[in-house]
Amino acid sequence: MAKPSGGYHHAHYDFGSGFCVFNDLVLAGRTLLDSGAVSRVLIFDCDVHQGDGTATLCQDDDALISCSLHCERNFPARKAQSDVDIPLENRLDDAQYLATVNSVLPWLLNLYRPDLVLYDAGVDVHQADALGYLDLSEQGIYQRDRAVMAHCRAQQIPVAAVIGGGYAKDHQHLVPRHQQLFLAARDALEESD
Ligand SMILES: [Zn+2]
Repeated sequence: MAKPSGGYHHAHYDFGSGFCVFNDLVLAGRTLLDSGAVSRVLIFDCDVHQGDGTATLCQDDDALISCSLHCERNFPARKAQSDVDIPLENRLDDAQYLATVNSVLPWLLNLYRPDLVLYDAGVDVHQADALGYLDLSEQGIYQRDRAVMAHCRAQQIPVAAVIGGGYAKDHQHLVPRHQQLFLAARDALEESD
């Protein structure tokens, strides 16, 4: 499932931050856990900024696992501690980023065995993003999103994805970046038919 909004990972328990008021990722995960539908949820956060709100809210929760891949020298200045943090160098490119996802995610899925992955597919990793300092292309975003779905599918774990951040003065430039998640989800579904 892919949703055309969401990923408010800077929202904390009792205050908002970085354009985020309510932490939808943690709320969704906790609600599903409380309902008994799942017993462990992994929040896999690929927005270029660290998911500090998510990290703090998951800190004392063994059933809600947070992992943030983020550009180290970027907002928030003071990082929180996720269950797993993967700090990235400035100007990381498509191949380096994809290699990181391909080594981290299978390891995480094996380690935590989640029943569900909540995926923050932030597009502020794009090379032209106003608030990100990485160097991914649109194709790189597509490959990242495909890789996340492929790794989860290989272990029969459902994924719910939100589009996270993405910043440009001209919103027309954002549309094709955000589109990649939906193209990747469509192609992953077609492949599984
Ligand atoms: Zn962001």
